Amino acid sequence: MDEAAELRAASVAVTDFITWTQWALARVGFRPSNCLAIVDVCRDELMGEFSDAVTRAWGTPFEVGALGALVFAGPTGMRAALSHVPGEDGRHRFVVFAFSHVGLDADGGVGRVQRRGMHRESTACGALVAFRDQLLDGQTAFTPDLEDVEQSLLRTRLARLLPLGEVPSLVELADMARRAAVADLRRYIELASEDEPVDVAYLSGIVVHGPDGRDAVVRVEGSVTIDGVERHLPH
Ligand SMILES: [Zn+2]
Repeated sequence: MDEAAELRAASVAVTDFITWTQWALARVGFRPSNCLAIVDVCRDELMGEFSDAVTRAWGTPFEVGALGALVFAGPTGMRAALSHVPGEDGRHRFVVFAFSHVGLDADGGVGRVQRRGMHRESTACGALVAFRDQLLDGQTAFTPDLEDVEQSLLRTRLARLLPLGEVPSLVELADMARRAAVADLRRYIELASEDEPVDVAYLSGIVVHGPDGRDAVVRVEGSVTIDGVERHLPH
């Protein structure tokens, strides 16, 4: 199945997915009353609906997402989150949602989206499209830039993951952003937690903004780590 077909076939609505997280995590002792949600999504307002759905299910989240859903909050950010998390039973619990995003237009164009009040289509994820355009342009050397902090860090972080000599598709880049975000959050949480007992559910995927204005999720991965033991959450 090509990527446009994969995105068109995305049938799990965001709201249904979030409902599933409540059900799946309740079975392993994660409830809104004993967890803090960590939301990592791109700054794009198109992701507002996703964040709202998380808030309705899990309460107001601690937000860590930069452009492209990369995470630059570091262990300091996660230490702050850790100091806010409930822990009455002696354990702290995070529910992490790390979701990158892509648009899909009515003609199957990946990365294009029709926004409210705009005649012309625009890009989603704009940050990843801009990075991919630079790769297509032959650029390979990326360094941090204090005048464009998030985008330059996105480029340097994702450049480490690029396959040699080829430019990934936009969906592949969104998937790389997802994987990088989860890996970085795992490391930051580990560094922040030190000897504190922290159990974490990691939920990640790509949100597809469809031509009918509906959001769906694809490439969902879920796992939960309790007392250092990781378990896959089949979705
Ligand atoms: Zn974006």
